Amino acid sequence: MSASCNLLDPKLLSPKFHELYAKAKDFIENDCIPAEALYEAQMGKGEDRWKVIPPILEELKTKARSLGLWNLFLGHEYSSYGGGLSNLEYSLIAELTGTCAISSEAMNCSAPDTGNMEVFAKYGNEEQKEQWLKPLLDGKIRSAFVMTEPAVASSDATNIETSIRREGNEYVINGRKWFASSTNNPNCKVLLVMGKTDKDNANIHRQQSLVIVPRDTPGIEMIRPLSVVGYDHAPHGHWEVVFNNVRIPVKNIVLGEGRGFEIIQGRLGPGRIHHCMRCIGMATYALDTMIARVTDPSRRTFGKVLAEHGSIVENIAKSRIEIEQARFLVLSAAKKIDEVTAKNAKREIAIAKVAVPNMLQTVADRAIQAHGAAGVSQVTKLPHIFVNARYLRIADGPDEVHLQQLGKAELKRSSEIVELQKRQQARREEILSKAKL
Ligand SMILES: Cc1cc2nc3c(=O)[nH]c(=O)nc-3n(C[C@H](O)[C@H](O)[C@H](O)COP(=O)(O)OP(=O)(O)OC[C@H]3O[C@@H](n4cnc5c(N)ncnc54)[C@H](O)[C@@H]3O)c2cc1C
Repeated sequence: MSASCNLLDPKLLSPKFHELYAKAKDFIENDCIPAEALYEAQMGKGEDRWKVIPPILEELKTKARSLGLWNLFLGHEYSSYGGGLSNLEYSLIAELTGTCAISSEAMNCSAPDTGNMEVFAKYGNEEQKEQWLKPLLDGKIRSAFVMTEPAVASSDATNIETSIRREGNEYVINGRKWFASSTNNPNCKVLLVMGKTDKDNANIHRQQSLVIVPRDTPGIEMIRPLSVVGYDHAPHGHWEVVFNNVRIPVKNIVLGEGRGFEIIQGRLGPGRIHHCMRCIGMATYALDTMIARVTDPSRRTFGKVLAEHGSIVENIAKSRIEIEQARFLVLSAAKKIDEVTAKNAKREIAIAKVAVPNMLQTVADRAIQAHGAAGVSQVTKLPHIFVNARYLRIADGPDEVHLQQLGKAELKRSSEIVELQKRQQARREEILSKAKL
């Protein structure tokens, strides 16, 4: 994998980026990927899967930090917090982290902390930043974003029902959430919880608020971990959580009452692009794994090495085409975010958010197939990658929601298209009449 991209003006990539990219590549290839087996071996057993963070992770974090590979997801607008790469530049680094599941966390660039740190940096007050942003930036704690609820269709966030009721100088939170990633991670110390402070507000986008809930607040009940196509993703995990009269001081509101919707909209743009670029890295890894397998001279069927069968060659070619297409879509979205902000790059973000996980699912599926039974077993990372692709078609908004928005935006161009067609028809008739056929 290389940082180059034919469509990119080399001037878009700074000398600082080139230096960090080379370091990240070396760190991921020579430290993180070889450490994956030890990470697995150091995982807790049984219930301890939720209590133990493999010590190798801290070692990798220390090394990453010493190399300057730390908080690179923070864009130019967060330069006071150590950021300094453009979205486009960070996307190319996120692509590298896609090849190794532990590398994002080693570099303090893993979800949901990245999005949460952006929330604190962008919307938090000084006290909130001091208390929560600082240790998050330091990689000392982790955090969770707690919005989805089992009882309502949460891809429409206006449905969220958890109540955040003011009582004097406190808010009292009651509700049931699930798929709250990282909530039971032993390092998770803070939750950003979305709920309704004003369920009767006529403006449905002003009913919600986002509040900061310290993880050790009484009344937070961890119900169960949810599996993702059989994986528990421990010690990170995705939990069902009940908030039972959880009391927090009113100063723990972010930005103000009724501003929750605004915050979640501001939170997800660049994060979606990071996920997409990690997917490109995963897809490249899947294709490379497939190529290594099918060219193994000891694996022959019907007199040929697997790579000599036409359908296998074709699948490799198709995968390469699809990866390149998807990669350009994400880089184009990242560049657009740099140029006009995430809010004004919604179209490009939606295109990438739908296209990339679908591409990854197909590419991972082909790689699994080429491995036969080994492909669905634990001997490669392909099943993990396949499942990642599958859930990313749901998480952060299902495909259909993005397709709806995208399709509606396209339809808005209707009058412009019809106008152009009318002008072209008039001109066609003019040309034909002048030609006097
Ligand atoms: C691994 C994983 C991690 C997650 N982490 C978090 C987290 O940290 N915090 C958090 O709050 N949430 C998290 N989620 C939840 C995720 O964001 C939601 O699952 C997602 O927003 C969809 O909401 P829902 O599950 O309620 O599906 P629903 O809203 O019930 O939708 C179900 C299905 O309906 C269809 N649908 C929805 N809208 C439309 C439409 N407009 N047109 C056509 N079809 C439609 C789609 O196929 C969709 O998949 C995570 C989910 C997963 C799988």
